[in-house]
Amino acid sequence: MKLQLGTARSSAGKLAYGTWDLVEHPTGGLDRLPVIIAQGNPRGKVFWLTAGIHGNEHAGLQVLHLLLNRELVRRLKGTIVCIPALNPAGLRTMKREAYYHSGDPNRLFPDGRTRDLQDPDLDPPSVLEQAYGRLFDELRQSANYWIDLHNTWTGSVSMIYRDRVYYRDQGTAAQVKAARAEAHELDRKLGEMCEAYGHSVLNEMGCAAYFDDKLHRSTTGAAVNIARIPGLTMELGTGHMPDPHIVKACVTGLTNVLKWAGMLEGEYEPITGIKVVQPGYPCRRRGTPRVSVPCVVRHLVEPGDVVRKGDPIAEVRDIWGRPIAEKILVADTDGWIMGRTHGIVHYPGTEVTGMGVPDDLPTVMPYPAGY
Ligand SMILES: [Zn+2]
Repeated sequence: MKLQLGTARSSAGKLAYGTWDLVEHPTGGLDRLPVIIAQGNPRGKVFWLTAGIHGNEHAGLQVLHLLLNRELVRRLKGTIVCIPALNPAGLRTMKREAYYHSGDPNRLFPDGRTRDLQDPDLDPPSVLEQAYGRLFDELRQSANYWIDLHNTWTGSVSMIYRDRVYYRDQGTAAQVKAARAEAHELDRKLGEMCEAYGHSVLNEMGCAAYFDDKLHRSTTGAAVNIARIPGLTMELGTGHMPDPHIVKACVTGLTNVLKWAGMLEGEYEPITGIKVVQPGYPCRRRGTPRVSVPCVVRHLVEPGDVVRKGDPIAEVRDIWGRPIAEKILVADTDGWIMGRTHGIVHYPGTEVTGMGVPDDLPTVMPYPAGY
């Protein structure tokens, strides 16, 4: 299969380099995305690997630099399309957002709904939203699979965020049955990809929180729920200063997923050097527990710890050091500690840790009304 993305053109047995035009500056010049197309035997699947849509998350850049080399291409059946920096403005400024779009850049992918562009009261889509729309069109033309690399908090566990698969609960009984079956098949592939990758797994938040937070418009949210392409978001611990153990374990995990996709030969390699949390029940991610007063906290748990409801999570003090309010903030549910959220100074209602909490929701659901 011949593939082109921007100026990068695939060539069998080679790494091809190029750029894709993202945004034109009013000062002249462009922000261009770096593109690498690694093609082994051209008859095979196409796997997209991307990183850095949040400009302050740098581990994925290192992972992709390590993964893509001549040795991989020699063994590869199929093609990897790689963009190691999806948000060049954020990468330069070490900011999550790009300065030419206010808001999370990972909520700009198409949601499948047509917007009334004629309504003068609505803001038009930003240059970045338009650019990611074009990129998503390119992705849909070629990708069989997509993995997008991110980071969470300092010292957080390496984790997979797995989107739930939503389907249209509309039409005849036969149409709904077919839509449900297609969704279950997609979900089954996501499960197999998670297993091959081998790191800790978290299902995305529940339905209302997912759509409220526009996660269906994230990279892999749109892949799964609009393009119906199996896609996963990988969270790789600390962002600014990548953890070399997590970087290495991510390269191993991605190699395993390429084996699962039939793009590399060989047995899965074990994931070593990082915490892989398997509490024995499926989990979804949640920001919890939350403080009730303005305070300074001292965490009493480590990322990766499995906790029970009522276990101590953090000491709560005022700025003078006096224990206040709950004094000891405890877990409001069983689960495990994904990581300690940024900072020790909190306003009421903010979470001090992210937790994997027991998930009894189905991984396949109908779209909520209105979507
Ligand atoms: Zn991110």
